Amino acid sequence: MIIVVRPDATEEQINHIIKKIKDHGLQAHVSKGTERTIIGAIGDEAILQSLPLEAIPGVEKVLPILKPFKLASLEFRKEKTIINVCGQQIGGKRIAVMAGPCAVENKTLLFEIAQEVKKAGANFVRGGAFKPRTSPYAFQGLEEEGLKYLAEARERTGLPIVTEVMDPRDIDLIAKYADVLQIGARNMQNFRLLKEVGLCKKPILLKRGISATIKEWLMSAEYIMSGGNHNVILCERGIRTYETATRNTLDLSAVPVLKQMTHLPVIVDPSHAVGKWDLVAPMAKAAIAAGADGLIIEVHSNPEEALCDGEQSLKPRSFKQLMEEMKPIAAAVGREI
Ligand code: PEP
Ligand code: MN
Repeated sequence: MIIVVRPDATEEQINHIIKKIKDHGLQAHVSKGTERTIIGAIGDEAILQSLPLEAIPGVEKVLPILKPFKLASLEFRKEKTIINVCGQQIGGKRIAVMAGPCAVENKTLLFEIAQEVKKAGANFVRGGAFKPRTSPYAFQGLEEEGLKYLAEARERTGLPIVTEVMDPRDIDLIAKYADVLQIGARNMQNFRLLKEVGLCKKPILLKRGISATIKEWLMSAEYIMSGGNHNVILCERGIRTYETATRNTLDLSAVPVLKQMTHLPVIVDPSHAVGKWDLVAPMAKAAIAAGADGLIIEVHSNPEEALCDGEQSLKPRSFKQLMEEMKPIAAAVGREI
């Protein structure tokens, strides 16, 4: 249920509403908008139906949330969610660009790539320290050593860090070093992991599962949000179809579809979607034109020697060119880059 609070309701009244909800074993999620405060009462439908919520002082009206995803829905929050991470925004006017290698391979290379992407105008550095590889014999990531290098790259560039978490046991460790925690496509429905990152204070970049519908994806966002962490960024990274010309098929229509369904920011990963470096730029531009709030792009100074995803990585020079070419596209849709 959505409880719309009267504009003249006092803090005490709001706290009383929240207490009432919690006393019945339900969750209360508060969304303070520019005009109105809304409280989402979430939990057992039978209890919700039986409660005379409209009788509580300060309540203006009570509306059901019809969607299966509640906190992620536009019914719960009409304004776009803007996530602030160390001075950078995701979901604001400026397009958030996250760039860096697929995996952190060594210190020197990471620092070099981080400096290059910063110079080109990226706002975040990406890099995996725990890698979800198809083969157990492939490079699995530097783990904590990689996290330390990422934290040092933040110090050197001033840009926040995005890195993947695969296992609930690693959340505290990764959250100690990183600014945004990424849930990879293969883990989009790892519900234990989603619940655990829901308790974490860091924003979560939730990639779309390889064969997930948009509704399933939003339900995964809901898992995170219901734990109290409302800072979720959705990332379209291509889905598996019968087409083999590209690594995956980028579902760009997901961007405007999501804009009609949720207030959460939506970004696009053209690198994993297409799997080939020379297809990254056109799809990155298309993503901006389609209304994406950001991009996550793989960049490597020596893709030929990369330990992971070299074939889809842009060299710093191509990345810089792409950043320039995206400027007029961003401006045409009322954004900046
Ligand atoms: C990645 O970002 O390096 C990655 C493994 O992405 P995905 O989970 O989308 O495959
Ligand atoms: Mn990769």
